[in-house]
Amino acid sequence: EDKPAQEAKQKEEIKEESEEEEEEQTFEQLGLDPRLIRALNKKEISVTKPTPIQRVAIPLILEGKDVVARAKTGSGKTLAYLLPLLQKLFASSGSSRKLAPSAFILVPSGELCQQVHKEVSSLIDSCKVQLKAVQLTTKMGVSDLRTALAGPPDVIVTTPACVAKCLSAGALQSSSINDSLEILVLDEADLLLSFGYEDDLKALTAFVPRRCQCLLMSATSSADVDKLKKLILHNPYILTLPEVE
Ligand code: ADP
Ligand code: MG
Repeated sequence: EDKPAQEAKQKEEIKEESEEEEEEQTFEQLGLDPRLIRALNKKEISVTKPTPIQRVAIPLILEGKDVVARAKTGSGKTLAYLLPLLQKLFASSGSSRKLAPSAFILVPSGELCQQVHKEVSSLIDSCKVQLKAVQLTTKMGVSDLRTALAGPPDVIVTTPACVAKCLSAGALQSSSINDSLEILVLDEADLLLSFGYEDDLKALTAFVPRRCQCLLMSATSSADVDKLKKLILHNPYILTLPEVE
């Protein structure tokens, strides 16, 4: 008589346990630096729990894997790459003077460039680390580009067209990129190709060193992204999050 009730109770407990497990997924458990977690809590809209794409992508990126992350717009792909990217740069911040940037974040538009730069800069400020991020757009003149690149910055947020401009103006040297680049992010990779950036991207990827970690974020899976994948990623982890209606 008691048995079914007991079984039901047991099932309930199991259900509760797995729900708890989901809820317990924290940024700490993903291996994120406490400084970054504090920075997330300080945001205007406090970020306390990782989104599904962040849960899977962050540990892989921290491990140094190449990752292709496909998840719909609004699923939190920016922090999914920015948080582990910054954490990796923490290790080298303040150490020997660098001759060239360690990370490139390529985006398809000047507007997105500004957004991502704002996000990365505010994280750096909150964490109080010795890292510098700059944005470069084709609207800037060559002397402004040179000024922004003096230092040099650790993180560059830019468009493929602007990288091409910097290279042809001599503001960036392909050999120093080859020496220093550790992480390359292609955000909105589907759009990066549809904007007709393919030639500019090819010019850049030609001297991306093999040891460089490549991260590709996109909202859709398309043949273009597959092309890009072949061009720059050696053996990536492909993370595809299904659309949730
Ligand atoms: P995507 O690039 O996938 O379209 P975004 O990175 O632009 O998505 O994020 C969409 C919104 O969700 C942003 O306003 C961002 O601040 C917010 N966001 C990202 N991660 C989280 C999180 N873990 N918790 C709450 N909000 C988040
Ligand atoms: Mg995005």
